Amino acid sequence: MDREELRRKKFAECEAKTEEVYQRLPRLREIEEEIKKLSFQKIQQALLKKSLKKDGIEEKVFQLLKEKDLILEAEGIKPEFFEPDWNCKKCCDRGFTEPGVPCSCFSKEKSNILMERSGLVGEMLEKTFENFDLNYYTDPHSMQRKIQRAMEFIDNIHQGKKQQNLYLFGGVGTGKTHLSLAIANQLLKYDHSVIYKRIDDLLEIIIELKYEDKGNKEQLEVLKKVDLLVIDDLGAEKTSAFALNQIRIILEERANMNKAIIINSNLDLNDLQKYYGPRIADRIIENFDIYELKTEESIRVQKKKDGFS
Ligand SMILES: [Zn+2]
Repeated sequence: MDREELRRKKFAECEAKTEEVYQRLPRLREIEEEIKKLSFQKIQQALLKKSLKKDGIEEKVFQLLKEKDLILEAEGIKPEFFEPDWNCKKCCDRGFTEPGVPCSCFSKEKSNILMERSGLVGEMLEKTFENFDLNYYTDPHSMQRKIQRAMEFIDNIHQGKKQQNLYLFGGVGTGKTHLSLAIANQLLKYDHSVIYKRIDDLLEIIIELKYEDKGNKEQLEVLKKVDLLVIDDLGAEKTSAFALNQIRIILEERANMNKAIIINSNLDLNDLQKYYGPRIADRIIENFDIYELKTEESIRVQKKKDGFS
């Protein structure tokens, strides 16, 4: 529901509850109508430039308002009751406090939309740099430098700078997913748009949107324009001419728009060539900084052992 729709709904709800009270307390409606009439008279007088002689209109309005207050007090109804029940009182759900000045509720809503669209859910949201443990790595110092690069990667996106993408490869349980999630989560915190998808899910979405006319076509644009696209587990999908073509298109479109990509994969460069052929492999070699994540054994296995020791 967009904001105008929401506002109309709130106004309608307000009208309905007001009507209920007027049914129960008809004098309130009479008072409202009398006040309206008097205000109208006052405006007419002003327009006709009649001398503003003492006509007692103000006094009458004052008395009516007083009577209204007394009724409301006796009924235990607060004056705000007749206002729509806005989610945000600051901007009456308009999204801005004055023209061109977004309300705080607007940025919060934007963050929520970004979060929802990102594909990050549950435990994925807990993977950060703070809980990334270098001690599991064969060479913690080299890993430290990769983390440094990851932080620069975030900064560059934040500043809109052109940069190389990231290709993170390594065996199962080497923290590729954790590292790319840490980057994605940090960018979401800065209100950047992120989409995080496993390659097979990504291909499925593309098929639905492009060829099966399902879903919202806008999502295709989002895949192109989002500040960071993370493609997880490249190499886990069934390779087909179709898949190869779609992957190539994504890489090219995003490169043209200077939009960042992170690819996680079990494939080293040799396997990459074998799986995807030179066209895709060359593009990745050219446009990505390639980092191997290396642990003696899977971090999950190491953690389990630690838990038992
Ligand atoms: Zn607001």
